Amino acid sequence: MPLNRRRFIAALSPAVLAQSNLDTAINDGRVIDPASGLDAIRSVGIANGVVTTLSAKPLRAKRIIDARNQVVCPGFIDLHSHGQSDENYRYKARDGVTTALELEIGVSPVKQWVEARRGKALIHYGASAGHVPARMAATNDTSDWLPAGPAATRAATDPEQIRTLELIREGLREGGAGIGMGIAYTPFASRAEILDVFKVAAQAKVPVFVHMRGAGRKDPGVVDALQEVITDAAVTGAAVHVVHLNSSSGQAFELGLSIVRGAKARGVDISYEAYPYIAGMTRLESAIFNPGFREHLDMDYKDIMLVETGERLNEETFKKYRKEGATVITFSMRDQDIDQAMAAPDVIVASDGWIDKGKGHPRAAGSYARVLALYVRERKVLSLMDAIRKMSYLPAARLEKFVPEMRRRGRISAGAFADIVVFDPARVRDKATYQNPAQYSEGITHVLVNGTAVVENEKLVEGVFPGQPVLSKVTV
Ligand SMILES: [Zn+2]
Repeated sequence: MPLNRRRFIAALSPAVLAQSNLDTAINDGRVIDPASGLDAIRSVGIANGVVTTLSAKPLRAKRIIDARNQVVCPGFIDLHSHGQSDENYRYKARDGVTTALELEIGVSPVKQWVEARRGKALIHYGASAGHVPARMAATNDTSDWLPAGPAATRAATDPEQIRTLELIREGLREGGAGIGMGIAYTPFASRAEILDVFKVAAQAKVPVFVHMRGAGRKDPGVVDALQEVITDAAVTGAAVHVVHLNSSSGQAFELGLSIVRGAKARGVDISYEAYPYIAGMTRLESAIFNPGFREHLDMDYKDIMLVETGERLNEETFKKYRKEGATVITFSMRDQDIDQAMAAPDVIVASDGWIDKGKGHPRAAGSYARVLALYVRERKVLSLMDAIRKMSYLPAARLEKFVPEMRRRGRISAGAFADIVVFDPARVRDKATYQNPAQYSEGITHVLVNGTAVVENEKLVEGVFPGQPVLSKVTV
């Protein structure tokens, strides 16, 4: 006998009927939620931008996403994303990123930066209160983004140091998500100046996100660089997050990791991140390339590539372009170090990327799909659950003590904000290359930001701006 409508409704449980006011249902996907350990076929119900239901049966809603044979997981949270423009947010969204934060260099002032993006962002955005830009302002260094003037070339006077700290405190009060520091870019910042910044972090109870003073296995390198920030964290009580431990360790990742692990075991609040590439990117005129860099970074001129043209450098062209200023990609790491970094149980994946008018490093567009494709599916150096943990839950957990809303991101459970990625685990892959970085990842089928679709069937949704600022709540 055919089922008539009356009988059909009678057959539905009251719970299912109540769910028909859902805005969106993502049905029958393999839901992976590292926070709870859930890895099962579930349907996710969303109303008013929030996950309200996880059901073993398909749900009814105004809009249905069929997620059969696909993975449904929390949106990825990038702690280290220099690209903070519409162009960059589009690449991030197509790579599964729902929150992109500039925590390494940071900004100053914070408020102005946040307001410039409010209501116009595809994904969530935010920045730390930056020591580098604060020091640039205090020393009148007018370089573009990274210092090449007084902030990079000399010690700060006492009044300049006081002003730098004032600007950092101001940035925190305006919602700066922690304190950013790039000591390698301000090599004349004294040990005491850096320690003072950690003191502010301790007062505000926020971490310092730090690109350390040195890199590489030779002294002065990764060992004493880690010793500086670990000591500062230990003596002040501030938390510390070491950015790109992979590139800072150079060809000594295991050594760098062993120091971080040791500090953690002795009670220092320390975390670290890595990106899934063997090459880095930075500015050629910055202090990174001060004399002696080849020895310290296990890198020669030929390992440096001009982003604009793809040209590899030699001693002569290095000098020329360093004078002019240029963005460069540096091939300085080994595959085995990156495999080890991705496999480390507590590593946070972060991109450290930016793209500018189609030019940049592929990590800006492909980091997250690359982890899923290359490191999970092909090389099998980590499980899908672990990869998702390192890309969503761990970064949220790092922020939640001082950005309370982060307790509701990086998770798929009732009450969490609906920042969600749906991807095809068999097909997902990065397409961005060193030669052509401006290529969207493949296989990321749907992306929701606070319940609003920003990617549908692998296409960007135009004219939606659900991205919210990620702001700290601290007193300092
Ligand atoms: Zn960076």
